[in-house]
Amino acid sequence: MTKQQIDCEQALKQILEYVDHELGEHEREAMQQHMHTCKSCYSRMEFERRLKEKVGALCDDEVPSQLGERIKGLLKSF
Ligand SMILES: [Zn+2]
Repeated sequence: MTKQQIDCEQALKQILEYVDHELGEHEREAMQQHMHTCKSCYSRMEFERRLKEKVGALCDDEVPSQLGERIKGLLKSF
């Protein structure tokens, strides 16, 4: 199988999907291939992944319930 080569522009476009595991098998492979050779895209991806982890951790905690209550309150007032 010939590996698809992508450039930084394409890689950056797909980084969020990569982090969210929303890419297809081939795109994913291409991303991995690119990040293997491109340190800047790799660190960008790591950054996004950590950010996502933090946001995920926040969402698992008390934020949704608080936010949910706030939204309910807002809806009631309308
Ligand atoms: Zn790159």
